[in-house]
Amino acid sequence: MSSFVVALDVGGTSMKGGLVGRSGEIILTDRRVTPRDKGPAVVVEAIRSFIDELAVTGGGTPAGVGLAVPGLVTADAALYSANIGWRDVPAADFVPLNVPVMLGHDVRTGGLAESVLGAGRELSDFLFLPIGTGIAGAVILKGEPYGGTAGWGGEIGHIPVFPNGETCACGQIGCLETYASASAVGRRYSARVAATPATSGTPTSLATPASSATPASVASPAPLAVPVTAEQVAALTASGDPVAREVWDDAVEALSLALATYTLLLDPSAIVLGGGLAEAGRLLSDPLAERLQSRLTFREAPPLRPAVLGVRAGMLGAALLGWRAAGVPDAGATWPLDVLKSPRVA
Ligand SMILES: [Zn+2]
Repeated sequence: MSSFVVALDVGGTSMKGGLVGRSGEIILTDRRVTPRDKGPAVVVEAIRSFIDELAVTGGGTPAGVGLAVPGLVTADAALYSANIGWRDVPAADFVPLNVPVMLGHDVRTGGLAESVLGAGRELSDFLFLPIGTGIAGAVILKGEPYGGTAGWGGEIGHIPVFPNGETCACGQIGCLETYASASAVGRRYSARVAATPATSGTPTSLATPASSATPASVASPAPLAVPVTAEQVAALTASGDPVAREVWDDAVEALSLALATYTLLLDPSAIVLGGGLAEAGRLLSDPLAERLQSRLTFREAPPLRPAVLGVRAGMLGAALLGWRAAGVPDAGATWPLDVLKSPRVA
C-alpha cells in the first residue's frame, strides 16, 4: 500500500489540500482557489486536477483520497450543495481511476478530526460548533459525527431562537445563525450604526482605531459604508462600545438558547467552539458559559472548550477519511499530536 493519502477540504472560496502519511505525518499542504463562479463541472475538474497534482508530488498513487465537501453528502456521492451548485456527483468523479475515496460533510469531517485528534480526543459525545460565516455543528456520538437520516443533522444554525425575530437567509424566522454567526455580528453592528442618528455622539466611529484615545468627533459622519468584521465588533465590545456590546449580547443570548436545547436533548460531555467568532476567546466563552448555566436549573452545563485544530480540521478529517477508504479504519488513533503541528496548513 502507498504510504500516503491525499486529503482535500473543499470550501466555497478555497480548497485546502494535503498529503498525510500512515502515522499522521503531514508531508505537504497546499491550497487552490475554488472556481465556484465557473460552475460545478469546473469545480469537479479543479478538484480532480488538484488531487492529481498532490499525488504526483507525493511520488505516485495515493493509498486513498478523503474529501470534505459542503452540502448534502454521503460517503459515496456529493448529493447537493447550494454553495457550489452541484448535484449527485459520484465520489469516483473526483479521483483518478482505482483510488479508493471517501467523502464527508465539511463540518462533520472537521468534527471527526477534533474527535480523533483534537479537543474531543478524550470525549465520546460532544458538539463541535464552528462559528464562521454561517453556523453548522457536528453532532459527535460515540466518537463519530452523526448526520441524521438525510444528512441534515447538525444544522444548529437554523434552530429558531427568537420566534418573533429577524428573517434568516434560509427563510425561517429568528435562526441562531441570523444573530450569532461571525457575519451576522458584523452585519448587525453595521445596521445599528447606520440607524443611529449622527447627532447622538455614539457609537464609536469605526474610522477611529479602537486603540486610539481620540474621541469620535461629533462632526464626523457615521461610517456607513465601512464593512465591519466580527473581530472588530469583539474589539469594540471589549473597549466598552455600547452598540457593540448589545450586538455581542444578542449573539451570546442566541447561542445560550440553542446550546441549552442541545444540552437538554443530547447531554454532551462538552461543547467545542471553533471558527472565527471563537477567536474572541473568553470574551465569548465566559458570558456564554454563564448564560448557558443560568438556563439550566437542574443540571450542570457542559464545559465549553476551544477547538484546537483551527482551519486544519477539515483537511485532517479528510485525511482520516482517506485512510479509512484505504482500509485503515482506526487511522489517527495512534497519531502523535506533535506531527499535526507542522508544517502549517496554508
Ligand atoms: Zn435559518
